[in-house]
Amino acid sequence: MIYNNIDFDTYFKHYPDGEGYYGKYGGAYVSPELKKAMADINEAYFTICKSSKFISELRRIRKDFQGRPTPISHLERLSESLGNGVQLYVKREDLNHTGAHKLNHCMGEALLAKFMGKKKVIAETGAGQHGVALATAAAYFGLECDIYMGAVDIKKQAPNVARMKILGANVVEVTHGLATLKEAVDAAFDAYIKEYKDAIYCIGSVLGPHPFPMMVRDFQSVIGVEAREQFLQMTGELPDAVVACVGGGSNAMGIFSGFLNDPVDIYGVEPLGRGEKLGDHAASLKYGTEGVMHGFNSIMLKDENGEPAPVYSVASGLDYPSSGPEHAFLHDLGRVKYDVVDDEETIDAFFKLSRMEGIIPAIESSHAVAYAMKLAKQMGKGSILINLSGRGDKDMDYVIENFGIR
Ligand SMILES: *Cc1c(COP(=O)(O)O)cnc(C)c1O
Repeated sequence: MIYNNIDFDTYFKHYPDGEGYYGKYGGAYVSPELKKAMADINEAYFTICKSSKFISELRRIRKDFQGRPTPISHLERLSESLGNGVQLYVKREDLNHTGAHKLNHCMGEALLAKFMGKKKVIAETGAGQHGVALATAAAYFGLECDIYMGAVDIKKQAPNVARMKILGANVVEVTHGLATLKEAVDAAFDAYIKEYKDAIYCIGSVLGPHPFPMMVRDFQSVIGVEAREQFLQMTGELPDAVVACVGGGSNAMGIFSGFLNDPVDIYGVEPLGRGEKLGDHAASLKYGTEGVMHGFNSIMLKDENGEPAPVYSVASGLDYPSSGPEHAFLHDLGRVKYDVVDDEETIDAFFKLSRMEGIIPAIESSHAVAYAMKLAKQMGKGSILINLSGRGDKDMDYVIENFGIR
């Protein structure tokens, strides 16, 4: 399919290019020392992603350990309640082992670490989901694991902190700045620069310097591959629309990659938080401008000094002031539409999906559900496939404390 002069039939061959660019976005804006580390990772990745041993090992792990393929569920009661015939479906990444899509790339990254002879994995975490997924992968492969986490998030996500510790990871508290995800990324990067001979940095989304946005997308593309085949089998057709929430953008790239070459409308949903004022949301693609942070060029929210702006979302996994470079590219191309929902709409969707379908979604994923419900009202007919990136057990106490039972 040709869209805006890009041939999506051969898209994955050309994007990113050899330097890690998606159009003008991406790249590797890092110190010479780190550039060498990134080049090593890139080379190792290119070797193993063609190795049948690596591919079959990853396949086996996904099936026997992660519980893949995850199913697609038809949301019959919620669809009916919309009253216009539009049918909603969810790809159940919440049923992945550890409760979210992040294990898809963590098992791949840890297998890569093993291949490269590293002893340790280092990462940051926001909601704690990436930390739990990586701690799980580290335990599985017998690797050491240091997880950097903002003090604010440590408080908000106590169950995930406990899980990481039980899994044997070392949770490092980050207290500077706003003490959330952005600061944790900085701290994890600093640690990696010191330890890169023995360790590998495992980024938690389609972010950071090349080759991470590409690697994480490739590892997550299993969602899109499965979902496309399952949806066709289930309904005999493709969905009219695919919807996913976008923090860094890994679950979204995972499902989008399966449908980019199809006549399917694709929507990325960013958190509008408390409103449009800078500092009250984390909708970088909607309100941001081009800039470099954390080693890559993308669209980001900046303060008056051009530095990454403070951001807010009710979902800790979405409060990041930029998005992956490939999303910036797809945004400019117009192939994916990026839009927002606020905290209120999100919490409403959280309870609707719980009450009407018996699925408690992560607050991150609730953004996608909320948007799909709005989109369904505009569409009037057809079908929408939502990527349900994770389950909401981690969020229950927080929701009840701050919003009560609805
Ligand atoms: C981390 C997380 C997200 C956001 O990360 P992306 O890279 O944008 O996918 C979304 N949903 C859940 C459940 C998460 O844990």
